[in-house]
Amino acid sequence: MAAYRDIVIAGGGMVGVSLALQLGELLSEKVSITLIEGFPFPESLSGAAPSYHPSFDARSTALSYSSRLIYEKIGVWSDLEQWLCPIERIHVSNRGRFGSTLMRSDDYDWPALGYVVENAWLGSALIQALYRQGRVEVVSPAKVLKAKPGESGVRLSMEGFSEPELDATLLLVADGANSGLRKELGVAVEEKSYRQHALIANIASAEKHDNCAFERFTDQGPIALLPLLPAPGGEARSALVWTLAPQRANELLTCPEQEFLQALQERFGYRLGRLRQVGERHAYPLSLVQSTEQARKGVVVMGNAAHALHPVAGQGYNLALRDVAALGHELAAAEEQGVSLGDLSVLQRYCDKQRADQDRTVGASDILPSLFMHPDPVLGLARDIGLSGLDILPALKRELVRYAAGVGEMEVVPHE
Ligand SMILES: Cc1cc2nc3c(=O)[nH]c(=O)nc-3n(C[C@H](O)[C@H](O)[C@H](O)COP(=O)(O)OP(=O)(O)OC[C@H]3O[C@@H](n4cnc5c(N)ncnc54)[C@H](O)[C@@H]3O)c2cc1C
Repeated sequence: MAAYRDIVIAGGGMVGVSLALQLGELLSEKVSITLIEGFPFPESLSGAAPSYHPSFDARSTALSYSSRLIYEKIGVWSDLEQWLCPIERIHVSNRGRFGSTLMRSDDYDWPALGYVVENAWLGSALIQALYRQGRVEVVSPAKVLKAKPGESGVRLSMEGFSEPELDATLLLVADGANSGLRKELGVAVEEKSYRQHALIANIASAEKHDNCAFERFTDQGPIALLPLLPAPGGEARSALVWTLAPQRANELLTCPEQEFLQALQERFGYRLGRLRQVGERHAYPLSLVQSTEQARKGVVVMGNAAHALHPVAGQGYNLALRDVAALGHELAAAEEQGVSLGDLSVLQRYCDKQRADQDRTVGASDILPSLFMHPDPVLGLARDIGLSGLDILPALKRELVRYAAGVGEMEVVPHE
């Protein structure tokens, strides 16, 4: 007979670990939860950043206000705080054109418009919180290789687990954009390649960022520089996400440091003074990947496996966290009512609740880069007027800021 768990989370990346934390907090001890991750996690509480892990890598993540509210509710915000650089202003501009706008947290009585955290520290804080919570069984390195409908919900074929097979009432698929399990389950995807890569690196500059994030649209793709906390040897540091044609990204990945800094300076300008140093560089091919189905009886597809977005507005993870919160809410309600956690009506209710948020966020992150790269001069003028106009139309700007903060549908209570 196969082993049994009520809930199995396949994939312990940023989304899988957050799911585990959220469900561990919301569901009673009677519900057994197991998290399976392909890469090794640190074995115990250590406080150190994990060594290489595909989700908690050299990137940084801009957490929106909605993510803060979610992490506060499950008690991990205080673990994260020491690693967060607040974004107090966002400067949006269009290279070679006159339009620009500045969004300020003060204008909305918010402590910050968002928070930037290096993924390695985000991973460390989440994994430590999971161990401390002590509620979820963590199995790593191990893999869920296959999933098919079984007697008690879903039957999983395992690698690196104590048994070759595991039955679960509910399988949460959080194994990333190239999800093998999604394929195994025969869930189709819609995929659109942007034919661009995101080049990421940490940049040291002569001038301090003063907690300002820069989003600069250029005819070759957007450049984002997000403020980072100072670190030994780097007082003024920002996290770069530079969207480029694949060939150019490859050249810039390997070119000498000075050549790289010169190229970036030429595209970004001098808002941070002279760019002095670049850290480890990595490139990610960019596509919009969307699952055509997110829920079946006993299965939900989550995170990048459900929707992987263009990183232009830094919304992918924030959206995934709102999904995590919404699913947790539905599962807690189902447990209270004595309904099976794999029941299709429960899982479908989650999908219905999240559809509008997903459509809006995916749509905006899809349209932004192409809108700003379009060569049409009329569109160019409209963009300039749009950016300058945002300073004249506070209501529209407020709506945009609420979108970026991920609080379109949420009641916002300002913090101290
Ligand atoms: C350059 C860049 C910048 C970004 N910046 C932001 C930002 O500022 N803000 C934001 O909100 N979002 C941002 N994003 C999006 C964000 O990174 C993703 O939303 C997030 O990484 C999704 O996490 P995930 O856990 O779903 O997937 P992944 O990070 O891919 O994790 C999947 C995990 O599953 C594991 N796994 C795979 N197969 C199996 C298996 N069979 N069994 C068990 N485990 C398995 C893998 O080892 C991995 O740990 C950015 C993305 C990019 C590319």
